[in-house]
Amino acid sequence: MPSQTPDMRQFFLYMDEKTTYPELVATVTPGLLQGVLNPLSASRVAGSAFDFEPELIRLDDDYSILNLYNGPSGVFKDFGVVFFGAVLEELLKDTGQAMVVTAVRGDTGVSLTNAFRNRRGITSVLIYPSGHIYGLDEAEFVTNGGNTIPIQVRGGFDECMRLISELINDRPFAERYHVTSANAINPCRVLPQAFYYLYAFIKIKKNLEGKDLVFSVPSGNFGNFVSGLYAWKFGMPVNGFIAAMNSNDAFGEFIRGGKFKPHPVVETNSPALDISRPVNYERLVSFFEEAPAVMRNMVFPSSINDEKTLQTMEWVWKNFSVLLDPHGAVAFAAAREFNGDGSRDSHCVILATGHPAKEADIVGKATGQIVELPEKLRNFRKQVSPIALIDPHLEALESAIASCF
Ligand SMILES: *Cc1c(COP(=O)(O)O)cnc(C)c1O
Repeated sequence: MPSQTPDMRQFFLYMDEKTTYPELVATVTPGLLQGVLNPLSASRVAGSAFDFEPELIRLDDDYSILNLYNGPSGVFKDFGVVFFGAVLEELLKDTGQAMVVTAVRGDTGVSLTNAFRNRRGITSVLIYPSGHIYGLDEAEFVTNGGNTIPIQVRGGFDECMRLISELINDRPFAERYHVTSANAINPCRVLPQAFYYLYAFIKIKKNLEGKDLVFSVPSGNFGNFVSGLYAWKFGMPVNGFIAAMNSNDAFGEFIRGGKFKPHPVVETNSPALDISRPVNYERLVSFFEEAPAVMRNMVFPSSINDEKTLQTMEWVWKNFSVLLDPHGAVAFAAAREFNGDGSRDSHCVILATGHPAKEADIVGKATGQIVELPEKLRNFRKQVSPIALIDPHLEALESAIASCF
């Protein structure tokens, strides 16, 4: 948790739909990182981080879609990661060094190699569990002159996360290599995701016509959701957040005021939401402890099953000619349930978190459309080999890293 959340209304309240995303980021960042980044550095950071933008599409009086999948890995997480990479380089100036150690799986490593590519002083260590990761380019590895060190661990994802904690807590090692992490434990992943909520707000505020503004967020580890709550803390006028879950909805009990009892994970067609205990649990708890009555009236849990998800993809395609991936469809279905017969008088912004082409089979099944994978997402199915394969022990990880220098 950041130690304080500044009121940033003076920085964004008077922006309008003509403001570009890098402009918004450059303007609010010095407010967020007071005394750390001045306006000049902030605009350098915003300019070098983003060569993609969020896209707000107004569908009708009740619904808009906030497209967040235009980044290099085709998921919204790119927005936080690239900002972190750019800020880190700026803070290191020209002489500092940092090692970013991150647990990844599937194709999430792509997001990190992109964020740290050609960034001075930064080495990116990717740790991943048994199985494969995809989409990395071997030219980016340290052994080939790049700055990425992929290390495979004989074990599961939880063991990778444990190794990162142990590495950070080995102070002599952490200080020698200036270790940090780009997993969600780093608030610099979550805070910059608040910027796209502000962006949606400045684009839409003139067209609300007196309606309430509500965001529907497909939520698994609740990082995106927490970012929305930060946008509200920064002073964004908003009436509610829908926590859109699939059948893995145990966290809804907590939001309704009950005790959180994790359930075993069931597999669904929106896999990024198949989470038993959200990584951001502690951050959410602190929001609820600080203002329970506010949270109760502002946060709306919702649970959408696979069948409903497919129906919603079809409905959105038929009515608006827009393709959603299953995660976005969960959020849209939740928004429709929330709006019900329209008596709420809300305008819901649905966060489209993943590129529909990444789930082309499901999208095709629901809509009958053939979804082409864009050029930049083409080598996502390519497997890569690690630089080292280690047992899940700290010493093994440390010597694998040290052997690269
Ligand atoms: C990670 C992810 C989510 C869930 O986001 P959280 O911050 O974990 O709640 C939703 N959709 C897609 C496509 C994702 O990759």
